Amino acid sequence: MSNLVAIVGRPNVGKSTLFNRLTQTRHAIVSDEAGTTRDRQYGKCEWTGKEFSVVDTGGWVVNSDDIFEEEIRKQVTVATEEADVILFLVDVQNGVTDLDSEVAAILRRTKKPTILVANKTDNNDQQYLAAEFYSLGLGDPWCISSATGSGTGDLLDHIVECLPKQPDEGAESEIPRFAVVGRPNVGKSSLVNAFIGEERHIVTDIAGTTRDSIYTRFNKFGLDFFLVDTAGIRRKNKVSEDLEFYSVMRSIRAIENSDVCILMIDATRGIEGQDMNIFQLIQKNQKSLVVVVNKWDLVPEKDQKVMDTFIEAIRNRMAPFTDFPIVFASAMTKQRIFKILETAKQVYDNRVRRVGTTRLNEEMLPLIEAFPPPSMKGKYIKIKYCTQIPDTRVPTFVFYANLPQYVREPYRRFLENKIRERWQFTGCPMNIFVRQK
Ligand code: GDP
Ligand code: GDP
Repeated sequence: MSNLVAIVGRPNVGKSTLFNRLTQTRHAIVSDEAGTTRDRQYGKCEWTGKEFSVVDTGGWVVNSDDIFEEEIRKQVTVATEEADVILFLVDVQNGVTDLDSEVAAILRRTKKPTILVANKTDNNDQQYLAAEFYSLGLGDPWCISSATGSGTGDLLDHIVECLPKQPDEGAESEIPRFAVVGRPNVGKSSLVNAFIGEERHIVTDIAGTTRDSIYTRFNKFGLDFFLVDTAGIRRKNKVSEDLEFYSVMRSIRAIENSDVCILMIDATRGIEGQDMNIFQLIQKNQKSLVVVVNKWDLVPEKDQKVMDTFIEAIRNRMAPFTDFPIVFASAMTKQRIFKILETAKQVYDNRVRRVGTTRLNEEMLPLIEAFPPPSMKGKYIKIKYCTQIPDTRVPTFVFYANLPQYVREPYRRFLENKIRERWQFTGCPMNIFVRQK
């Protein structure tokens, strides 16, 4: 199960500086999506072999100087609900402020591990200033300087110690894990309720004793699968969900712990920025995707032309990744509810599909011969053979070449498309690597 660490604190204490320091190690690795706003707020950190996600709660407001205190209080509350560890950042050079005290009051009530971090301790002389923060009632402050990086190694050791030690439930099993995601009011609870409905074959009791479990096992119409974080979907929150921050915080856990994400879009509204942000979370985590256009019952004319227009608009927005299924459904009338599950299962099968090395080379090498990578600097580039790496989370293919550094992105995309044309990988991201041979 994945872990989430949230950085909270009032504006200007250094949250985004710390966030960048914690996540920068991974920046080079994460997909093509660099430069999206999401990167500023959500990233991965790896330390001593443990991986966790980090969210900068402050990154969600455009102008953090104008942020209302009430907003900060809500953000902290949501962070305590959704995160596994909370980093509460304060500014040593500024001392304790009223807002610090208010945040501390919320954090003292949570059972989640909370780490008090005295940032901007740039030199040893400033360490004694941190003593003042004992008064917040959250234990010893950890003195760090996000700017210089001093103290962050010890802090990371401590964060890793605080991460919950849970068994990797469900992860080792062969049973697919589906997450229903989408922005508020798109129909997530309605869909989950439609799945559950009159269902009598739920293995795990939803409202029952295993409430900390985020997986609910279903055995429906011959399909065996887990739904991820249904409790989080069904629970109607005390804190309003009008701000995007809340819905995204709630999506992260479900997405991270799934294999296939069922991304719901509202047919009456089309694709909007919030849908795209959740889509980017799915991509960043390299999860497989089924898009559901929900509330289809509300669309007056439902002919093929209308559907095609929808399909084109959705694929255009999500390009360059366009090889995913789209299901038009209604959680209310239950139209195509089973189709959604069936499609999610197909996409899962695609995710674990393995193409034999012999067949792969038989199909791909003649193609590569006919359309070789363009030569670079007068040098002839030869791809000799290829193979699919077994046991990866995402279909991953390696092509061995004499000069791998000259095989560029457009050609890798060409190889990917040819693989997709020949074998079923619909709904799944794919890694194409070119290595030296
Ligand atoms: P946020 O609003 O909490 O995300 O704060 P930022 O990360 O944007 O930082 C606010 C200001 O504090 C910026 O000018 C940073 O350069 C500065 N800052 C952040 N960390 C440190 C630090 O460790 N030492 C010093 N001296 N300044 C820092
Ligand atoms: P959530 O916030 O994503 O969990 O959305 P809900 O499931 O709570 O649905 C929000 C609103 O949309 C509710 O009033 C639902 O009754 C309505 N709704 C959900 N799915 C459909 C649908 O397929 N058709 C119609 N007409 N309404 C729907």
